[in-house]
Amino acid sequence: MIHEDMICPFCGCLCDDLVIETEGSEVVRVDNACTLGSHKLMNAGKHRLKAPIMRDGGAWRDASYEEAMEYTAGILLDADRPLLYGWSSTQGEAQGAGVSMAELLGGVIDSTTSVCHGPSILAIQEVGHPGCTLGQVKNRADLIVYWGCNPTEAHPRHMSRYTTYADGYFLENAFRDRKLIIVDVRKTETGSIADEFMQVKPGGDYAVLSALRAIVRGREDVVPPTVAGVTKEQLLRVAALCKEAKFGALFFGVGLTMSPGKYKNVRNAIELVDDLNRYTKWTLTPLRGHYNVYGSNEVFTWMTGYPYAVDFSRQIAFYNPGETTAVDILARQECDAALIVASDPGAHFPKKCLEHLASIPSVLIDPMHTMTTPLVRCQIPVAVTGMDASGTAYRMDGVPIHVKKFLDLGYPTDTEIITKIFEKVTEVRHP
Ligand code: SF4
Repeated sequence: MIHEDMICPFCGCLCDDLVIETEGSEVVRVDNACTLGSHKLMNAGKHRLKAPIMRDGGAWRDASYEEAMEYTAGILLDADRPLLYGWSSTQGEAQGAGVSMAELLGGVIDSTTSVCHGPSILAIQEVGHPGCTLGQVKNRADLIVYWGCNPTEAHPRHMSRYTTYADGYFLENAFRDRKLIIVDVRKTETGSIADEFMQVKPGGDYAVLSALRAIVRGREDVVPPTVAGVTKEQLLRVAALCKEAKFGALFFGVGLTMSPGKYKNVRNAIELVDDLNRYTKWTLTPLRGHYNVYGSNEVFTWMTGYPYAVDFSRQIAFYNPGETTAVDILARQECDAALIVASDPGAHFPKKCLEHLASIPSVLIDPMHTMTTPLVRCQIPVAVTGMDASGTAYRMDGVPIHVKKFLDLGYPTDTEIITKIFEKVTEVRHP
């Protein structure tokens, strides 16, 4: 059977033009996806956990969904400071149920944002977001800057769908008419096709952004001969290209958000875009990783006023990244139970955090074994959104997209499991 116009549930590009062929419950062909998306869709049906598993002494045993959900509700109800973490590779509907449960429990809910683009959001909260849709970029932008990111490997279709290789309404031959500037600490594959590659010494992004801002504002006299490894000559050239563009689009990744300077780097980038907007049109977009991490920020914000790291222990929503973020709560050994949903902290968190996670009652909701599995006491397998579950996800530019299912493998969705756990918690807290 052929399924057309399907959505790839891998990265924040949320490509919506996939053609998927299935035979029974097997995916036999995926057209239009990149290697990452294609690999996920070809294999996500094959390596699933068959049923919930629970630790029994030193070994795992199979459990029923009912037993696993009872256990999850029990550990969350018994905890003084439960942590509900993850939420970036699941549907918006599940994220909403998670926020309601965190509020009822007086717990903390945080998404993977706190270890990727959290600093971008802090900067946006201070100075605003001159953003636009990816469609605007494709149709109008004649100059693209990628700063601290490598879309060729992390978002492989970003350049072919929206920037370098994507012809648009006002750019009939994008590859010829659209210029590309890459700023990074090393020359990646993306850097090798740039019109201008600006190599910044590690930790030098803030200084280079400041130098560009000074030049754009007419104060090139204060810029020294080299700034963080970049010559003044190149800075002048790049600033001139940026001012001459009809429509510029700056994309940035964790190379900017997680290097020294963190949110101040992003704030400086936004202010550079603001300075450039005095001459021409410029926009800025964070390259979001997990396919619905943007959605977690949207859903948390509608429901609590805050985009991530929301702490309900005071009976109101409280937000203080650096204090209420998952890594900090785990490192301080503060939480006494954890529910991990659609993310893999076992692969990314510091050892100290994982040691604490392994020492407390915890449950993982995820379709497959991950590096978090050995750290938890129970895992509940669910359907994969975009394969055997439908739901809402937000693309990296904030456009909501209905992600469609094309298979039925008999697994419950994240939303169904979290809603049932929430109902069990509600029965006890509000009988
Ligand atoms: Fe999927 Fe991202 Fe590749 Fe598009 S670029 S096919 S969303 S992994």
